Amino acid sequence: MNFELSEDQLQIKYSVREFAESEIRPYVMEWDEAQHFPEELRPKLAELGLMGIIFPEEYGGAGMGYVEYVTIIEEIGRVCGSVGLSVAAHNSLCSNHLFMFANETQKQKYLVPLVSGESWGAWGLTESQAGSDSAGTRTTAVRTEASQAEGKAGWTVNGSKNFITHALACQTLVAVAVTDKEKGNRGISAFIFDKSMEGFDGDKKENKVGMRASETASVVFEDCFVPQENLLGNEGEGFLQCMQVLDGGRISIAALSVGIAQGAYEAAVKYAKERQQFGKAIAEFQAIQFKLADMATQIECARLLTRQAAATKDAGKPVTQRSAMAKLYASETAVRAAEECVQIHGGYGYTKDYPAEKYWRDSKLCTIGEGTSEIQRIVIAKNLLRSM
Ligand SMILES: Cc1cc2nc3c(=O)[nH]c(=O)nc-3n(C[C@H](O)[C@H](O)[C@H](O)COP(=O)(O)OP(=O)(O)OC[C@H]3O[C@@H](n4cnc5c(N)ncnc54)[C@H](O)[C@@H]3O)c2cc1C
Repeated sequence: MNFELSEDQLQIKYSVREFAESEIRPYVMEWDEAQHFPEELRPKLAELGLMGIIFPEEYGGAGMGYVEYVTIIEEIGRVCGSVGLSVAAHNSLCSNHLFMFANETQKQKYLVPLVSGESWGAWGLTESQAGSDSAGTRTTAVRTEASQAEGKAGWTVNGSKNFITHALACQTLVAVAVTDKEKGNRGISAFIFDKSMEGFDGDKKENKVGMRASETASVVFEDCFVPQENLLGNEGEGFLQCMQVLDGGRISIAALSVGIAQGAYEAAVKYAKERQQFGKAIAEFQAIQFKLADMATQIECARLLTRQAAATKDAGKPVTQRSAMAKLYASETAVRAAEECVQIHGGYGYTKDYPAEKYWRDSKLCTIGEGTSEIQRIVIAKNLLRSM
């Protein structure tokens, strides 16, 4: 694996950095305070190809690989975790589920508009009783011979999903429901939902500690009729599809974590050089220097693990283990780096006058979303014991 980015990749990195600095940085705290989901950013993200980073040009995508993708998510996360989370969830959950498992007709109808940035995509696996135990889905889909309304066969879906990124803003949602309760996780199927469908809507928006400018809300299905043509793949494959989608999604949360950690580290260095105590900059104290050295080293490790997982995915090789390792290490690095950033800022780090506290709040989501640190350790341990 090449540890360094190529000239082309560096160009992508710096153009996204420029965009994030000019179009996102000035508004970060305003959006965070107001829990404002910046819909106004969507056309600009689309113009840069960021609504369809990893999808081929034939679907209107930017046709980039995962190494470029993680570079982009890192650069956005460095400036704003919330926007990074939204771009990551849009690309690697909803859109990627469609790219990996939809048939050509479904791709043309649902993936193409998502990739062109017509709207945000959402992805629904989590429910109130199905968190880490994601096969604990209670939402049901019952086969309906022919709907009176549409005159076609399909499924009637009832239930709800929670903690869904873009539940309110999305036009398209990919979500799973139990189609055969006798078959355990092999009785779970994935469907494409459209906001125009009756009986499907977004619900309560969460008031979150961090990632406040990324919209997180519930969705509810009340006798929602989904036509047969919106079943993704075969009946009973939904859970296994989700696990494969998460292999890619976890790489993007790793990248987001690296970005948040890098942003926190840069803020800490800047402050340590400016802040004077005992007649000198606090950066001159070895205690502060050691913190910065640990932060920089751990961030570099996290970046390399993330890039390795991305390169593995690009090579089409199994990536479950590497993506779990990258996500675990990078997310815990982000939390540590953000906490040290607050510490280096002293009392000022505990106020909203400096960016430290926001990195701290945002970083914590990374050890929870798309599988908690505990779940990543379970995945890693299972894989390594199997291979020994
Ligand atoms: C901001 C945000 C955005 C999100 N976006 C989405 C989204 O777009 N789509 C979606 O489907 N979901 C989304 N989620 C949900 C997220 O993936 C879940 O919150 C996460 O998987 C954890 O589930 P839970 O919250 O129910 O926690 P629980 O599963 O209840 O876990 C509670 C604690 O118990 C631990 N635990 C549970 N089981 C075990 C075990 N077997 N061994 C050891 N420890 C265990 C966990 O690690 C955790 O520490 C989002 C969540 C947040 C906060």
